[in-house]
Amino acid sequence: MDSVLKGIEIYKRNSWSQERAQQELTIVNKLLGIIVYNLNINEVFKDLVNELRKAVNVDWAGIVLIRGKVAHFYALSSKIGSAWKAGDTVSLKGTSIAWIAANKKVLVEPDLAQKREFRSDESHLKRGLRSIVYLPLSVKTEVFGVLTIASTRPNAYGEQELALLEHLCTQIAGVVRAAQLYEVEVEERLKLEKEKGERLQFINALAHELKTPLTSIVASGGLLLEELKEEAQSPRVRLIENVIRATDTLEARLSELLDMAKMESLGFKMVLELLDIRPLLQNMFNGFLPVANKKRQSLTLDIPPSVPIVKADKQRLEQILLNMLTNAFKFTGEGGRIQIRLRITSTEIVVEIEDDGPGITKEEQERIFTPYYRIETDRQRFPGLGLGLTLSKQMVERHGGKMWVKSELGKGSIFAFALPIAEHEE
Ligand code: ADP
Repeated sequence: MDSVLKGIEIYKRNSWSQERAQQELTIVNKLLGIIVYNLNINEVFKDLVNELRKAVNVDWAGIVLIRGKVAHFYALSSKIGSAWKAGDTVSLKGTSIAWIAANKKVLVEPDLAQKREFRSDESHLKRGLRSIVYLPLSVKTEVFGVLTIASTRPNAYGEQELALLEHLCTQIAGVVRAAQLYEVEVEERLKLEKEKGERLQFINALAHELKTPLTSIVASGGLLLEELKEEAQSPRVRLIENVIRATDTLEARLSELLDMAKMESLGFKMVLELLDIRPLLQNMFNGFLPVANKKRQSLTLDIPPSVPIVKADKQRLEQILLNMLTNAFKFTGEGGRIQIRLRITSTEIVVEIEDDGPGITKEEQERIFTPYYRIETDRQRFPGLGLGLTLSKQMVERHGGKMWVKSELGKGSIFAFALPIAEHEE
């Protein structure tokens, strides 16, 4: 882009005739158009050459790029047919392209009928071409391709034509380079997408594979517990309860993995409804009270008497709250304090879960919302995959809301999310 703008500057400073300057400006504009709208040079090369014809004699034009030991025909435009087409490759050795790459300068063959330098000259002459100019396309000092312009007229390229062509070449070099980088980028992207797809497929298959036997363990565990109920004090009851708890955790982790894979490939499926979030919070609160009692933690719920309706997927909201509360209880020690609060702003409802647990540093706060990230010190001590917050944040965002954390190391954390208040619907 820079080189094109620089080119326009040079045109402005140049003392060439008005008309020629105008023509050249049109060509440069065309080039600018190529950069902005289409990086596929091959598609616009014909237009470009047509534009060029207003100033220079052109019957055959091509851009050839050097790729290792081969010359690759990148773009072609011809009035007289061509021995090659875009996409063809030929060995570089002994070609005009190799000569230009080695000598890094423009080469003119004024009349092929008189003198022929390269192996391709013969076929050019056979097609009626008489004069050819080869112009290096380079970035810094490296020649990465050649622009070839040819005419059926001998001596078609004088000083003026060459000046214009050389100038044009600087622009084309910039555009082609940008296009090449873009192509590499697209290729890389596609490769990554493919890898990601395969990874997701693998996670999906693995999680499903593990879920099937797990379901039967859970079912059998439940039945066994029923049978052992009479022996309330038996160590066997405690053992089977341990098994059930562990399989529950395993199931939850697998569901997170499946959710993550699903979300990355398809996005979440959401069933939106107009929802009063209060009963949901109340249920969560009731459900977590026994957990709080067990760890001698205090749990409070603070919601205003009337709360505006939100448009939300109830199950997803439950998942988000469950994750935030599980974390709060998991990371806060015995005797800690956990508060569930809801406040209302002019446009949103904000749910906050505050704990007086270990807190999180500023740097970690940025990372904990990325997939599979878990704080180093927690990795050994607590179970988890590091997916809960990632999923929660994405789910909140799918609702048009946002999620964040405020925390100070040693003092505790407030995890919060905001959801837009639903428009009043009749
Ligand atoms: P998981 O809990 O499965 O590890 P999450 O994505 O829910 O995954 O959380 C990521 C990490 O963020 C946790 O491993 C933990 O290090 C940190 N974290 C989350 N919630 C809290 C909290 N309330 N207090 C302190 N650290 C937390």
